[in-house]
Amino acid sequence: MLEQTQNWINKGAEVLMPTYARFPLVLTQGDGAVVADVDGNTYIDFVSGIAVNALGHCDADFVNAVQDQADTLLHVSNLYYNIPQIQLAEALVEHSFADKVFFCNSGAESIEAAIKLARLYAHQKMDGDRFEIITMERSFHGRTLAALSATGQTQYQQGFSPLLPGFKHVSFNNIEAIEKAIGPNTAAVMLEPIQGEGGVRIPAPGYLAAVRKLCDQYGLLLIFDEVQTGMGRTGHLFAYQEAGSTPDIMTLAKGLGGGLPVGALLAKEAVANCFQPGTHASTFGGNPVVCRAGKIVIDRLTQPPFLKQVRELGMDLLKQLETLQKQTSVITDLRGKGLMLAIDLNISAAPVIDAAMKRGLLLNRTSENTLRLVPPLTVLPEEIDQMMSILSEILKEPSDGKT
Ligand SMILES: *Cc1c(COP(=O)(O)O)cnc(C)c1O
Repeated sequence: MLEQTQNWINKGAEVLMPTYARFPLVLTQGDGAVVADVDGNTYIDFVSGIAVNALGHCDADFVNAVQDQADTLLHVSNLYYNIPQIQLAEALVEHSFADKVFFCNSGAESIEAAIKLARLYAHQKMDGDRFEIITMERSFHGRTLAALSATGQTQYQQGFSPLLPGFKHVSFNNIEAIEKAIGPNTAAVMLEPIQGEGGVRIPAPGYLAAVRKLCDQYGLLLIFDEVQTGMGRTGHLFAYQEAGSTPDIMTLAKGLGGGLPVGALLAKEAVANCFQPGTHASTFGGNPVVCRAGKIVIDRLTQPPFLKQVRELGMDLLKQLETLQKQTSVITDLRGKGLMLAIDLNISAAPVIDAAMKRGLLLNRTSENTLRLVPPLTVLPEEIDQMMSILSEILKEPSDGKT
């Protein structure tokens, strides 16, 4: 049986560029919060495509809508209007601060669009020569060159110099650091409301509101990268809503398409209208199929009590993790909002992930010692319990991985 897995891994290694350190797992099917591999083993999925499969795997309404749209109209150019694109934009505008939406295909692309829009706005509407964007250390904004330049983690930037100029990185959760970095060329501040790849770093209460105030005081744009925190992940449709701090520009991707590739740039009218015909575009952006999928996702998320349930599931999970922390010496910190949680360990996370996989649980880590839990937003309470019992077994007797 295992032969099938090994066979595909061998084939894959031959033809795929070695950009990923992949687990020896070939996934073939998914249903809710459970995925199956080519050899028929099943796993509870607490990775969900890295916070992508918001409604779980192969949700029936989602699949029906995608199939129907694929049967009707798959793709047309943005030289024309298509109805699913308009309907998804309407829903995003209705449920957010934004007046207008631009669609692209990924998180990194939504960041590229945000950087272009901020620069355009600065050149057209701000005094002087403003182009610089202040971003945060330990941030993550994607792998394309501008997004990589914005990202505050040198480990991802090595070997790709020269990076795009015009970014200043300051420490996260430190309002003075931003104020000190503001200069005559500053146009915007860009940050994740909760740092995702940085290890689910939640800023102090009041920090995001203080950043908003600072931007107003200096006439700067505020950009929130909600690629990971957006679409219900934190128990609110968007993380900024709970933080009481409204951006001028917001980026979305990951959960937005529920598993299909779609990204979006949202902005208030005065900013959005700097984009005129010819300034920005994407061939696939806002494709009818992905937008139809996105509409299913946002409709479900905004249907009470969906988000309340996400908050309750998240609180229950955090509580169970706190109980586990008391029973083992390896957990040094826990944090999370909604269904975006992290566990800091004083042992390596990698062997824990391997042990979990052997027991039928998929986990992910953001660094050497930090596990991240981002299950489907539709995860069942009993699946959380199953996850907890597997994790408890492993963390109460960490046989290897002592650092
Ligand atoms: C994942 C992520 C990105 C990049 O998204 P891609 O779709 O991988 O390009 C950007 N910003 C944040 C906050 C992310 O979590």
